[in-house]
Amino acid sequence: MNSTRNDTLDSFCEYLASKGLRMTDQRRGVFEALSQQTGHFTAEQLLMEAQSLDETVSRATIYRCLPLLVESGVVRKVDVGHDNKFYALNDTTETFKAQVICDDCDRIFDVDAPFMEWYGKNVSEKLGLHVQDQRLQVHAKCPNYSKNGSCSDSN
Ligand SMILES: [Zn+2]
Repeated sequence: MNSTRNDTLDSFCEYLASKGLRMTDQRRGVFEALSQQTGHFTAEQLLMEAQSLDETVSRATIYRCLPLLVESGVVRKVDVGHDNKFYALNDTTETFKAQVICDDCDRIFDVDAPFMEWYGKNVSEKLGLHVQDQRLQVHAKCPNYSKNGSCSDSN
């Protein structure tokens, strides 16, 4: 667990260096907050976590740091079509993920969908194109919500 985290930190440092940037205390604070995240998080959630670890981390630091984290591959952006952009830590496996989004409670479930990647690649190749990016998002409604006013396993 720790070695994965250190590898990630190393690759982020390398990425910063390649951009002529340094690992500052604030960027490290953001990184530490990041390693506390599980599942999907917003920039604001990351800000709160970072400030609880290091109060010198500002909102501007977070918003400048997140694109760097995305570009370096540490974090991926999960656009679910809401105003809030969600982020998630990239795991080391490169399995294509589909997102199933509950429209009632806004929870996002990542589901491995390796066949989707294969499908997108095959369809594109038939057209003589190369895949740049693809996503599958499923919006769903929980039947429990309409009955009980809450989703099955929320809380
Ligand atoms: Zn729900």
